Amino acid sequence: MSTLDWEGCRNQIYECVRCGHRFKGEELIMRDRIVCPKCGFHVIKKIRPPVVKRRKAI
Ligand SMILES: [Zn+2]
Repeated sequence: MSTLDWEGCRNQIYECVRCGHRFKGEELIMRDRIVCPKCGFHVIKKIRPPVVKRRKAI
């Protein structure tokens, strides 16, 4: 078993720093490695999924 928390990564959004391609963690799971599915580059950053924040009414 991998030491990576694949389940936690599954719904995470990632972005390739080279080509800017965005993809879900499950695409990494399918390949079992941390590379961009489009260009194969290995530097990937996490994108936070949009979180709905409540604003205080002023
Ligand atoms: Zn890429």
